[in-house]
Amino acid sequence: MITKRSFKMLAIIHALVGSLIGEEFNSILLIMVISFSLHFVFDMFPHWDPKWDKKKFETTGEATLTKFAKAWVTVDHILAVLMILSLYTLFDSKKMALGAFMGILPDIISLGYKTKLKKNKAFARFLKFHSKIQGHTNLKRSTITQLIILLILASLFAIVYFLG
Ligand SMILES: [Zn+2]
Repeated sequence: MITKRSFKMLAIIHALVGSLIGEEFNSILLIMVISFSLHFVFDMFPHWDPKWDKKKFETTGEATLTKFAKAWVTVDHILAVLMILSLYTLFDSKKMALGAFMGILPDIISLGYKTKLKKNKAFARFLKFHSKIQGHTNLKRSTITQLIILLILASLFAIVYFLG
């Protein structure tokens, strides 16, 4: 069975972390590995889980998000994609764009549960791990935590990029 827990620390947070790594390191391999790994560290911060549509899950066995959760996740991902594109074009940094992409990659990989991949053992283990490390809290606390993290990261980004 698919875990009902989701994995939704904000994508823009993961992308920001990755972009900072991309700015700090020169090695492409290091940028990829560190940004990817830091994703899991940031997932451990308490955050809100978008709610699965329980009724639908119980009647159809299909795991879909509620409308509010869907909207939240969609906006977040559009912002993350825009961020990656602007790092690449406005900031002219392939390394930062790569870091940002690697930062959200674990969540993209997790989408594989919607495919045949979910029958793969290694993939199932990855999903379980990704789900287990999530820090949980309610929407209000999550919003505050994530806003604080966002502010810190955005300040770091400004310092590193514009002053560094
Ligand atoms: Zn994640």
